[in-house]
Amino acid sequence: MAAYREASESQAQLLEALVEAGHLIPSGVPGVYGRGSDYEAVRLAFDAYVTRAALAAGETPEVLRFPPVLPRRQIEDLGYLENFPHLAGSVFAFEGSEGQARAMAEVAGQHGDWSEHQHPSDLCLTPAVCYPVYPAVARRGTLPAGGVTIDPGASYAFRHEPSGDPARLQMFHMRELVRIAEPETVQTWRDSWRDRALALLVDLGLDARFDVANDPFFGRAGRMMAASQRDQALKFEILVDITDPEPTAIASFNYHQDHFSGLYGIETADGGTAHTACLGFGHERIVLALLKTHGLDVAAWPGEVRSLLWDSVG
Ligand code: ATP
Ligand code: ZN
Repeated sequence: MAAYREASESQAQLLEALVEAGHLIPSGVPGVYGRGSDYEAVRLAFDAYVTRAALAAGETPEVLRFPPVLPRRQIEDLGYLENFPHLAGSVFAFEGSEGQARAMAEVAGQHGDWSEHQHPSDLCLTPAVCYPVYPAVARRGTLPAGGVTIDPGASYAFRHEPSGDPARLQMFHMRELVRIAEPETVQTWRDSWRDRALALLVDLGLDARFDVANDPFFGRAGRMMAASQRDQALKFEILVDITDPEPTAIASFNYHQDHFSGLYGIETADGGTAHTACLGFGHERIVLALLKTHGLDVAAWPGEVRSLLWDSVG
């Protein structure tokens, strides 16, 4: 069984209130919820708000979309199982005879363990929405002058971290933007988006601030990688207080240096190794932060917040 994280009292209370209000629809599995119509309307409006902000900043990112599964081979190439073995989800499927299918169905019908009848497929679940972007851009050959900015949209990410905290999901939407270019261009872009994103979230009434952060690398070697990531300020997060005991990261800004570009061989127009950076807004956590701040009745939210989300054009 996966390590299940118990909810704190305030997390359990918030979850109950969200279910009661129809914002979340429990599936029976911790961290997997359906979404009610107001919740979903806020989520989609926030996504459009980010798209408008990119345009207003003079960016016209290229839209690419990918399904929420990755080739198993890509997870292997990325070393994901070294760094995050505890979060990965791989897709298994049945391959066998009619007799084996009957045996599997019988065990499954009694809620027994039917895993012996399952075989690895070519797929894993996508843990970060930017992952398919790097090989896709690499396939095109050398980057154009100035590099590229890609908008892979708000797609599902899976992370196997079952929890009673309504902010810690197993399946959630991450809105990403990705910059692939010369190192200085990429760093400037990451920092300007960190500042822009903070302003966007503060404008929505959230008590948000940013801080250096690290990815949840696994094990003892992972602790060293996390420390080095912090020392080099490769990752920033925007934090808000939603429940006790800790603040919640609602967005992150990541400078990968040549981690992805080296692996896939992405070169800049003048023949150097490109660098990459991405940002990720955690949709569900942002909706949660807004509901916590402005109340569970979305129709009664302050007019300025509603008009930023729904009325503004531009
Ligand atoms: P990478 O460099 O691996 O691509 P990333 O920026 O794409 O990193 P994270 O920083 O790990 O990915 O996550 C981005 C955002 O997704 C987080 O700031 C958070 O808001 C949201 N998020 C992460 N894990 C969860 C979760 N379990 N439940 C809900 N939202 C999550
Ligand atoms: Zn990313």
